[in-house]
Amino acid sequence: MEQLAIFGGEPVRKTPISYGHQYIDDADIEAVANVLRSDALTCGPKVTELEKRLCEVTGANYVVMVSNGTAALHLAAMAAGITKGDEVIVTPLTFAASANCILYCGGTPVFADVKRDTYNIDPESIRSHITEKTKAVVAVDFTGQAVELDEIRQICKEHNLMLIEDAAHAIGTQYKNKKVGSIADFTTFSFHPVKTVTAGEGGAIATNDEKLYHRLLRLRSHGITRNPDEMVHPTDAMWYNEQVELGYNYRMTDFQAALLLSQLDKLDRFIERRTQIVKRYNEAFAECPELVLQREIPESKTARHLYVIQLNPELLTCTRREFFDALYAENVHVQVHYLPVYWHSYYEKLGYPKGLCPNAEYLYEHVMSIPLFYSMTDEDVESVITAIKKVLAYYRR
Ligand SMILES: *Cc1c(COP(=O)(O)O)cnc(C)c1O
Repeated sequence: MEQLAIFGGEPVRKTPISYGHQYIDDADIEAVANVLRSDALTCGPKVTELEKRLCEVTGANYVVMVSNGTAALHLAAMAAGITKGDEVIVTPLTFAASANCILYCGGTPVFADVKRDTYNIDPESIRSHITEKTKAVVAVDFTGQAVELDEIRQICKEHNLMLIEDAAHAIGTQYKNKKVGSIADFTTFSFHPVKTVTAGEGGAIATNDEKLYHRLLRLRSHGITRNPDEMVHPTDAMWYNEQVELGYNYRMTDFQAALLLSQLDKLDRFIERRTQIVKRYNEAFAECPELVLQREIPESKTARHLYVIQLNPELLTCTRREFFDALYAENVHVQVHYLPVYWHSYYEKLGYPKGLCPNAEYLYEHVMSIPLFYSMTDEDVESVITAIKKVLAYYRR
């Protein structure tokens, strides 16, 4: 049997490949440079143009650009009315920001478990965690696959809860032929470089509600308004603006907006290539019983952000740690998504015990995300498959 690189053998890949990477072309660079040569550097015409474009991409009536995906979640949570004493139900299998936004508002995150096969929040678990104090649900489209939006929306309707969909992974995904962004009360996006399209840093909130939209605009810029209808002391003085609540500076710059507009020109291409790679992985791993693959639900036409493999410990002699390290040594730089949020020491100190969500905890211990990004060549894809099969063969029971 071929010696693993971790034990001194030759690595499958000569150069490392990471689990995600941005793709920037000359058009992107030109778009940014053009803004830098213009008059408006921040929150100007490019941001407005981008908001219109994202309305088309997401099917939402309104989109507000902000400085990053975390700011988008924060403002969505504020506009959802989350405040001290409120409970908000959230998945633990996510980046911490999905729950932190609840803490920012003084609310209490309540973790509902995920389904063991789809990795998305389980509507039944949401139902079982509802109390008098529950105000909202934060649902994450993990890896880009849409959560069970019909079921979750029904629960929210019955209990008068706001639904925030964290779609940081899911730009371009459709649920039952409706675009993600047009369905929940708020849908948030992130444009960090590792996501499907990037602004360097950037975020967006999509909503169909005009009132909430105006609130989001105001919160993005200090809680200050120029609209006399929103003022306590309205005047027609041209210079007058008024802070009517406590907001933030979460504005996006125009050069970031220009970058994202240029990236969105490539979104269909990006998704098509990612879909091809996913198909190739699915095919290659179908013959590996040691790997469990994420179940795809037919309701979601998924624009895939992550490809997660799950180890079947009954058929392997290694731990997840050993498998991860072996792949790393083969120059396949995998990553783990995610540490259950309440396992972070900060949440532990807040009093969340281990064992709250057994499925999320099990998944955390057995999954890793393998390389998936637009600019991977077919050779890259095959090398990842070869490396995984090599490590599987070594540790097969
Ligand atoms: C990336 C991400 C965020 C945070 O987005 P930033 O733009 O990095 O602030 C939030 N939720 C999920 C699920 C993410 O993947």
